[in-house]
Amino acid sequence: MLRHPELDVTCTLIVGDGEALLVDTLSHAAQARALGAAARQVTKDPWWLVNTHHHFDHCFGNRTLVDPAGRGVWAHRHAAAQLAAAADELTARWQAQWAHLPDLAAGLAAVSPLVPDRLVDEAVTITVGGRPIRLMHPGPGHTAGDLAIYVDDVQVLVAGDLVESSGPPGFEDALVLAWPAALERLLAEFPAASIVLPGHGPAVGREFVERQQAMLAGLAALIVQGYAAGEPAGSVAARAAMPGALLAVQRGYGQLDAGACLGAGQAWDGPTGAEGVTCSALEAAGDVVCRRVGDPAAAHRGEF
Ligand SMILES: [Zn+2]
Repeated sequence: MLRHPELDVTCTLIVGDGEALLVDTLSHAAQARALGAAARQVTKDPWWLVNTHHHFDHCFGNRTLVDPAGRGVWAHRHAAAQLAAAADELTARWQAQWAHLPDLAAGLAAVSPLVPDRLVDEAVTITVGGRPIRLMHPGPGHTAGDLAIYVDDVQVLVAGDLVESSGPPGFEDALVLAWPAALERLLAEFPAASIVLPGHGPAVGREFVERQQAMLAGLAALIVQGYAAGEPAGSVAARAAMPGALLAVQRGYGQLDAGACLGAGQAWDGPTGAEGVTCSALEAAGDVVCRRVGDPAAAHRGEF
């Protein structure tokens, strides 16, 4: 794993026999070239790319690092769709957000994002140089299109920004109410001894992910209760007392306004509120236990 000093982004290189896999590609061409040079110290073999999600710091180096011989870029379908549909708008937003870091902002401005071409809906296992690698969408959380990567033979989980250890969770595009279930699914899916590589910050173990899951579940519960009680977002955020809480509550309220479910402590984002996330996708993931009001087409198990 490489930790880049800017934003403490992590990238992971998985080396097989004759080919490799590089998870996330940093923010712009110059950073990607440096990442490529570091990876070339480890392997001379060609590599596949994977993006854990569509945020610039994880995928804007794709074009620089993609294998010229045609090995493609894996990502969740929604992450690819976001980049295909809104790259200019997203780039403008991030340039403005990072204007106080002129090198980063200038690097972003020069990027023409390369949209991933190997798409994952739920989960797929690929073989890279003889090593099975599992690419899995545990449900929406940090974004609607998060992808986790599991390397079975060394029990390493690359979690992207579903887990961050050097800063608080990022809520800017988060599906706040669904995030706890996504982490719960990751915890259920992989052995307790797995090493977890966050999207930002040093490696962690299961206990860290459990704590982050509990914290996000507590936040989601506050949001659902506050919404049901008609409480202003600011006052819920003050009670949550964590960095980014106001944005998290505002996004949660927006998703509840748009039809996200309030049911049975399993609040999650329905089809109209989740930027393309469909009920059927979540249902296939086996996590759906509630019925969304006013949407008879969405046949979910359980009770509202
Ligand atoms: Zn992110």
